[in-house]
Order: sequence, then C-alpha cells, then structure tokens
Amino acid sequence: MSAEKFPYLLKAGAELSKHRIAETELPWRKYRTPYRIFLAEMLLVRTRTDIVANHFEKIASKYPTIEALALADESELREVLRPLGLSKRFPYLIKAARYICDNHNGEIPADFESLLKVPGIGKYTATAILIFAYGQKLVPADVNVLRFVSRFTGLEMGHVTKGSRELWNLLPLLSEANVGLSAENLLDFTRLICRARKPKCNACPLSAHCSYFKHVLS
Ligand code: SF4
Repeated sequence: MSAEKFPYLLKAGAELSKHRIAETELPWRKYRTPYRIFLAEMLLVRTRTDIVANHFEKIASKYPTIEALALADESELREVLRPLGLSKRFPYLIKAARYICDNHNGEIPADFESLLKVPGIGKYTATAILIFAYGQKLVPADVNVLRFVSRFTGLEMGHVTKGSRELWNLLPLLSEANVGLSAENLLDFTRLICRARKPKCNACPLSAHCSYFKHVLS
C-alpha cells in the first residue's frame, strides 16, 4: 500500500489538525496520569465515550491509585460500574490492577508486549495507553478510525478484525501525514463527524477527497 495510491489520506491528517473537533474536554484528558489513562481506556472498552465521561471522575476519586483499585471490594466495584453497564467487567479491572502491582511495582507498563500480558488489555487498549499516557506516535486504530479510512479511501471494511488487511496497512500513512494531528483529534473526528450513522459530511473538512462523499452520497 503506497502513499502514491492514496495521496489524500496523507493530506487528511494535516487538514484535520487545523480543526479542533471536540467542544468539551474529556475528563481523563484534563488531568492526565498513566493510571487515569489506564482506568479510562479499560472503562472505554465496549462503552460509549460520553457514558464513561459522565462517571469517570467519581470512579477515579473512589479508586485514585492502581493500589486502591487492586484492593477494591468486588461487590462495591460492581455497583460503581453498574451505571456504565460494566458490572460484569469488574473482575478484569481488579485482575489488571493486581497484575500491575505484583509485576510492575504499580507502574503502568510503557511497552506494548508488557501491556498485552495484563489481563483484560488487548491490542487497541495497549496502543491507546502508549499514545495517551506515554506520548508514543501510534495510530489509535479503533473501529471508528478504521471506518473513516474505509469510507475515505473506498476500501472494503472487512469483517474478521473489523478492518481488512489493506485498511490496517494504510494506518501508518495516516500517521506519516500527521504534522500536528493529535490522536485525540482523530478519535474525536471519527466519533463525532465521520460517525457510524449519518456522518456529518457537509461539515467535514475532508469531503472534497472522500470516496464515500463522492461516490455514495452523490
Ligand atoms: Fe466521513 Fe463524510 Fe468526511 Fe467522508 S466526507 S470522511 S464519509 S464525514
């Protein structure tokens, strides 16, 4: 997959960096520590961003450190997570916190391989922690970002991993294009503008070169 074949994807990042997409700051972005990023990303697995945002500070103040989370009373944590629809996920949170305390001295790991060994952490969550907690230059390839690249380039989305091999291969291009494009802005854009249902194409700064806009909407 080459930059020549998808020149506008390279420009998309630079264009997006001129637009601030989200109007309000999400709570875990206002005051950022590796633990708060870890907690947010664990809560965001299969849960809408706005729902996590509404409950995040309450959860973070009840469990302000990884040690506090590791020592959480299970039934209490289940109740705390109930408003997020996550009451069944509490064992993962506790297991992950205990694993990090036992194996990493309570420090959230800063490398991909170590993060993947933490119970409940998959590839996307590991990537997001490396980007948002440690500033690593990676592309947060969640389903929204893959859907955007699929629409923009006209490549099939695929089914097995929610993205075809071609889409995954294109992601580094998006990152190369990134002069000042923040991963957060990309996530906000794909969540709020190039959203799953009824994308806001008329308000989209990338519509001039978007395959979906040209071929599907016209
Ligand atoms: Fe997404 Fe529409 Fe923008 Fe294309 S024009 S990137 S489909 S919002």
